[in-house]
Amino acid sequence: MGSDEKCAVCDESISFTYLPMKEWDIDGFLCSKCYSKKISEFYPGEHERVNLSKK
Ligand SMILES: [Zn+2]
Repeated sequence: MGSDEKCAVCDESISFTYLPMKEWDIDGFLCSKCYSKKISEFYPGEHERVNLSKK
């Protein structure tokens, strides 16, 4: 029923898919969480500020 996509990063089922940018080198779709995380990694300061502790 419906389109049930999975996030290419965290493998969660997502109802609203985000397309990764080419330079991220990700095959598939992203959930909103991983998308905003990627954005902040690639474009620090240009998006909303997030405090992420690096692993
Ligand atoms: Zn995800």
